[in-house]
Amino acid sequence: MAVTEEKLQEAVSRLKESGVRITPQRHAVLEFLLNAEIHPTADDIYKALEGKFPNMSVATVYNNLKVFREIGLVRELTYGDSSSRFDCNTSKHYHIICDECGKIVDFHYPSLDEVESLAEQVTGFQVSHHRMEIYGTCPNCKKELQHH
Ligand SMILES: [Zn+2]
Ligand SMILES: [Zn+2]
Repeated sequence: MAVTEEKLQEAVSRLKESGVRITPQRHAVLEFLLNAEIHPTADDIYKALEGKFPNMSVATVYNNLKVFREIGLVRELTYGDSSSRFDCNTSKHYHIICDECGKIVDFHYPSLDEVESLAEQVTGFQVSHHRMEIYGTCPNCKKELQHH
């Protein structure tokens, strides 16, 4: 896909500018992230790439993700005690999450800034950000459920 290729080049030059060395593994992790639409966990990435890089460990994947996060290429999404998921779409967006398979899909909607200012007024907090998630059954799982 041309768009992904372009994004990849962009990300690679951001890494170079930040003085990050681009190893083949690092490149592969980045490429996987940009192509994955599911917001993968470090484990998902490891499983997808272990065949290609037998010497790679989950820790290596984590370290790479940490580097990407520090320079703002990915966002880490934490959900309670389950493992973090990684998002390479760093623009403001919301998420819809499948109750069945756990897949997370991007969802664009004007940012709910009024909620933040109202919360500030009502509670006296200094609001830093907000998170909103929508839950449901993804098209794939919906199909699966219908067949059973
Ligand atoms: Zn699903
Ligand atoms: Zn996202």
